[in-house]
Amino acid sequence: MTTAFYVPPASRHGERIVLPDDEARHAVGVLRKRAGDEVIVIDGEGGWHRVRLDQVGDERAAGTVLETRREVGEPAYVMSMGVGLIKSRNRFETFVEKAVELGVREIVPLHTARTEREGVKEERTRNVMVAAMKQCGRSRLPSLTTPRALPEAITHVEAFDAVLVAHEQVDPTQSVRAALADAPDAARVRVLIGPEGGFTDDEVAMITEAGGTAVSLGPRRLRTETAGIAAAVAVQEALTSSRSPHSL
Ligand code: SAM
Repeated sequence: MTTAFYVPPASRHGERIVLPDDEARHAVGVLRKRAGDEVIVIDGEGGWHRVRLDQVGDERAAGTVLETRREVGEPAYVMSMGVGLIKSRNRFETFVEKAVELGVREIVPLHTARTEREGVKEERTRNVMVAAMKQCGRSRLPSLTTPRALPEAITHVEAFDAVLVAHEQVDPTQSVRAALADAPDAARVRVLIGPEGGFTDDEVAMITEAGGTAVSLGPRRLRTETAGIAAAVAVQEALTSSRSPHSL
């Protein structure tokens, strides 16, 4: 599949699109694009364009929009995932990359009772997200919020059709699919995943008292990043079986 170029809306002027410098360098220097070539451009806000390049220089590439579509590659629901900050930056970035590929719309790093890291490298993480968005064929760049304390992540549960907390002590029959069985048309779902040390019992109780549902991701204890990926797949399975996503 063709890798898309990321061109934020500010670089679109009517039907004209000018690739930002780094994307132009990649298009011209690496992929050898020439005037007359068609490329796919995404704007990170749901816009997908087929573009014919007509001005190509050493570090410049611009063209005209031939076709525009909306929400290509985007699920019909919004999945927000709150994930306990973990010690390993690499593992966190692995999670972020896979979450983007799996359609997660928002990533909320969480401070919990057992987190051992303060924050994330924003620019580096954003670069991972951009690369994953371009590679997988989505048209939206998910948001990465600043780290939040767990209570903050559950103050507005009414904004979601379902809030799920993954907890390894829950019976495996209490799956994501079972939890979403009554909400097949859910438009907004938040999933909470604990850090290496897991959520404390008090934290799980706080989330369920606020309206969340504790779910299992199976009979084995998963690392945080694996749990995030497994939960994203499970939500996708539960919510797309009855609806068609905006496919490529
Ligand atoms: N507290 C655990 C321990 O040290 O024994 C491990 C926590 S696990 C590494 C990190 C997080 O992944 C958990 O807080 C939970 O959110 C999620 N998780 C891992 N395995 C899970 C499972 N089988 N079902 C549900 N959630 C799971």
